[in-house]
Amino acid sequence: MAAGGGHDTLIKHVLVVGGGTAGWLAACHLAKALRSADATGVRVTLVESADIPTIGVGEGTVPAIRKSLQHLGIDEADFIRECDATFKQSIKFVDWLHAPNRTSHAYHHVFDYPANNGLDLTPYWLMGGAGNASFVDAVSVQGQVCDAGLGPKVMTNRQYEGLTSYAYHLDAAKLAAFLTKHATSKLGVEHKLANVTDVVLVQDGSIQAVTTDACGDLEADLFVDCTGFSSLLLGQKMGVGFIDKRDTLFVDHAVAAQVPYASPDAPIPCHTISTAREAGWIWDIGLTERRGTGYVYAADYTDHDRAEAVLRDYLRESIGDAADEVATRRIPMRIGYREKFWEKNCVAIGMSQGFVEPLEATGLLVFDATARMLADQFPPTQAAMPLLAKRFNDRVRNAWDRVIDFIKLHYCLSKRDDTAFWRDNRDEAKLPEGLRENLALWRTQPPTVYDFPNKFDVFGIENYLYVLYGMGFETNMAPLEHRYTDTALAREDFGYVRQMADQMMGQLLPHRQLIDRIKQYGIQKV
Ligand code: FAD
Repeated sequence: MAAGGGHDTLIKHVLVVGGGTAGWLAACHLAKALRSADATGVRVTLVESADIPTIGVGEGTVPAIRKSLQHLGIDEADFIRECDATFKQSIKFVDWLHAPNRTSHAYHHVFDYPANNGLDLTPYWLMGGAGNASFVDAVSVQGQVCDAGLGPKVMTNRQYEGLTSYAYHLDAAKLAAFLTKHATSKLGVEHKLANVTDVVLVQDGSIQAVTTDACGDLEADLFVDCTGFSSLLLGQKMGVGFIDKRDTLFVDHAVAAQVPYASPDAPIPCHTISTAREAGWIWDIGLTERRGTGYVYAADYTDHDRAEAVLRDYLRESIGDAADEVATRRIPMRIGYREKFWEKNCVAIGMSQGFVEPLEATGLLVFDATARMLADQFPPTQAAMPLLAKRFNDRVRNAWDRVIDFIKLHYCLSKRDDTAFWRDNRDEAKLPEGLRENLALWRTQPPTVYDFPNKFDVFGIENYLYVLYGMGFETNMAPLEHRYTDTALAREDFGYVRQMADQMMGQLLPHRQLIDRIKQYGIQKV
């Protein structure tokens, strides 16, 4: 029964429009939660165009993806084999603090929580308790594991478990194909290939059907708009406005390139490398068969030709003159989010919902989390929709605002002075208010869990600690020193982290070798 029926009408059919990663993730979560073998469940159909390509980028993830893949019943080794996937344990930020003509600077934002044996080590590190060790090396083994090129798990670890926490790097196109197969063969999602040419609204503004060239009108009770930046249903047809966030986050373009390895057995970094440049930053991600790279830049501060030259200069450092031959693709990006994400009987998941630069791999993270939220709180009837929609809108908006705070943090802590792009990024007037307040507070005391009250926030205290102190943020500990008297215990804990690091160096395999073995032998399930 399509929209416009009585308010107690059961929701029996969901139509997902768009077959990029967001569309397939949404279809998988919905089908997993709502389908049933008999007629009592909810049907899930996905329609996608064979002519309009997916965005084709999006190679970095965060550890939450492991839970989702496991929840969806995906075999980890199959996923690694079919998506050209590798492990990711950190993002290494290079030259974010100073321009590269000064001392080169780098730090890891790792996925393991800071060691906390009942004692928060942060104040002790700030008071010099770990000597010259960087924050990340004082409280975690993972930066050292990454720098040694080691993977996060041993072959006796079960699926989705490791000695350290991890996410993946993956081929975006292969992930969409892999999820297509899983959704249709294991979760019962119906798949249609057609171009949506129009959207039919009823009088109250709800969607009745989408009109397609190859499958006629497709009706449903709830529509999920996964049409990417075009936001065909929610944005274009229902007229839900877009809140542009380029006043805070300046970068709005990318130039991307796929780069071959120098040799088939070249080491694969187990972290994303994010290198700051004059008007943005370059991502460098190692998959099994190739690297994925791209320069994400602000068009107001540079031009497209210069941006491409910056990327080629970067590539020349690793592949020499072959950098001149690499094919590049320019991608304009819409930075911000919709005024609402759920309007009437239409929910946007994916870039139709919102997007910010991929500095912390927040795309898949937010889309996966919001698809799961929709599936877990799915309205049984149309009458249940408005209240759920209101809550969904509040939570998703908050999630995007917190993501924006965290991304901006990376820029406003920089001391780079080489271009207007970096200087303007420090402009206090362009900082979100919550972030400005937090920074003022954290100059007088280290962050605490009380600064992160929302359980559903995408980034928590540990993420902030790694970035703040990786970037040399200064907290004035002098007036607080008398509060921290567990110095001996802290010294012991710092020693324990060093000992664990030594132990893991002997235990973990080089990253490529680990991937090769997993491809050959699989990963044990129990
Ligand atoms: P798309 O991939 O654009 O898919 C849109 C779908 O809608 C397609 O199937 C298309 O055929 C269909 N469609 C559109 N119009 C119609 C129509 N009229 N009829 C029928 N079908 C239609 N995310 C991360 O998590 N990590 C990263 O490292 C990362 N890096 C990124 C780098 C860049 C430069 C960019 C731009 C994005 C990056 N992202 C990253 C985001 C990531 O790419 C997206 O989150 C992800 O691919 C989901 O995209 P999507 O499915 O919303 O849209």
